[in-house]
Amino acid sequence: MAHTPYPQSYYASSATPAPERPALQGDCETDVCIIGAGYTGLSTALFLREHGFRVTVLEAAKVGFGASGRNGGQIVNSYSRDIDVIERSTTAKSAALLGQMAFEGGQIIRERIARYQIQCDLKNGGVFAAFTSQQMRHLEAQKNLWERYGHNQLELLDRPSIRQVVATDNYIGGLLDRSGGHIHPLNLALGEAMALEALGGVIHEQSPVLRIERGANPVAHTEHGQVRAKFLVVAGNAYLGNLLPDLAGKSMPCGSQVIATEPLGEELARSLLPQDYCIEDCNYLLDYYRLSADRRLIYGGGVVYGARDPANIEAIIRPKMLKTFPQLKNVKIDYAWTGNFLLTLSRLPQVGRLGDNIYYSQGCSGHGVTYTHLAGKVLAEALRGQAERFDAFAGLRHYPFPGGRLLRVPFTALGAWYYQLRDRLGI
Ligand SMILES: Cc1cc2nc3c(=O)[nH]c(=O)nc-3n(C[C@H](O)[C@H](O)[C@H](O)COP(=O)(O)OP(=O)(O)OC[C@H]3O[C@@H](n4cnc5c(N)ncnc54)[C@H](O)[C@@H]3O)c2cc1C
Repeated sequence: MAHTPYPQSYYASSATPAPERPALQGDCETDVCIIGAGYTGLSTALFLREHGFRVTVLEAAKVGFGASGRNGGQIVNSYSRDIDVIERSTTAKSAALLGQMAFEGGQIIRERIARYQIQCDLKNGGVFAAFTSQQMRHLEAQKNLWERYGHNQLELLDRPSIRQVVATDNYIGGLLDRSGGHIHPLNLALGEAMALEALGGVIHEQSPVLRIERGANPVAHTEHGQVRAKFLVVAGNAYLGNLLPDLAGKSMPCGSQVIATEPLGEELARSLLPQDYCIEDCNYLLDYYRLSADRRLIYGGGVVYGARDPANIEAIIRPKMLKTFPQLKNVKIDYAWTGNFLLTLSRLPQVGRLGDNIYYSQGCSGHGVTYTHLAGKVLAEALRGQAERFDAFAGLRHYPFPGGRLLRVPFTALGAWYYQLRDRLGI
């Protein structure tokens, strides 16, 4: 039987030891079968199990194999497009609900960590860093917008203040979100999986779902077994492939790359990021970075549309890191990896139902650590018959990428190039 291990990364090499979870063999029945053991699948499973549902999670590779085990680890509030965009694209009632929910994902993560004693190096505080006065004006507007929705742990940073937070002269200011923060993303997923199993939930690894049989009791088929359920939840995100062509048409897998330096030592690490906040800049194709618990700099950036794996990740990301921190020019890179997220044209999550009993959430477009945790709660509410918040997400409209499957990659790259140019020119 094929075995898909974790890709090499700092996270895989510092992962909490976890049991081998057997692949699905034979037939079984459950209340809810969940496809994918990333944050979306695990969060949904945990909420459902906490409410007494029988849950079986089928994972193609290993828990957190996808973006959830490879990401920048940044707890970023709201969505990839902000609430003002949502206000313009849906009803006032839905926008109000989505706005209220925009800060819930981070709370869910912290509740999970506390309740299940998950060891994942949680640190509080995240900063959005501005290169230009236009980006700074955008951050001021973002602060006002978020405060309108009751989120008030925000502080604008001027040039001297941001220099106290991050040792680079590149930024003219920023916005500190005290309820942002960072985690070891794979260990969060592994901790959630263990919490689920402790409550009696079942996870099968190395069990890609090859086919879904729709009907009154849908069935997920793997190579050596099948799960019949009252409901299916599809949470395969950028790794789902074409399992459900209805979903694949309006989303596009994209890659982002991350490097981890050798351990920097306490003094150098503290000199770079004295408060240990995580940072993401305000560019369209943004850089994001933070310190790990063992004082490495974890630096990510770049987007590969269509999710081809670049041959030399270090060659792409190291220059970005040195542009921010030239003082690291002699530092060795110990790990480099890539991961895929799922982009939608609107950059808002794609949520809905196929027939009565197949639910999905995907496509949070690169800002998914908090959203996916919220999605689990909202999907679980819908399966329990309270669909108001689910319907608010499901009401967001999605469109195919221009150019269809053949040309969507070059067309989208061209669009991104335009926004990158605007960032460079500061307009
Ligand atoms: C490099 C990178 C950096 C990022 N950094 C950040 C960040 O700092 N902050 C932030 O908010 N967001 C970040 N993101 C986005 C965030 O990580 C994702 O939005 C989020 O983890 C998606 O979770 P998910 O559970 O929906 O999908 P995934 O974590 O990708 O999980 C999907 C799972 O489904 C499984 N699967 C797929 N198909 C099948 C099938 N047929 N059968 C069984 N299993 C299947 C896959 O193996 C995978 O384990 C980043 C993404 C990447 C790639």
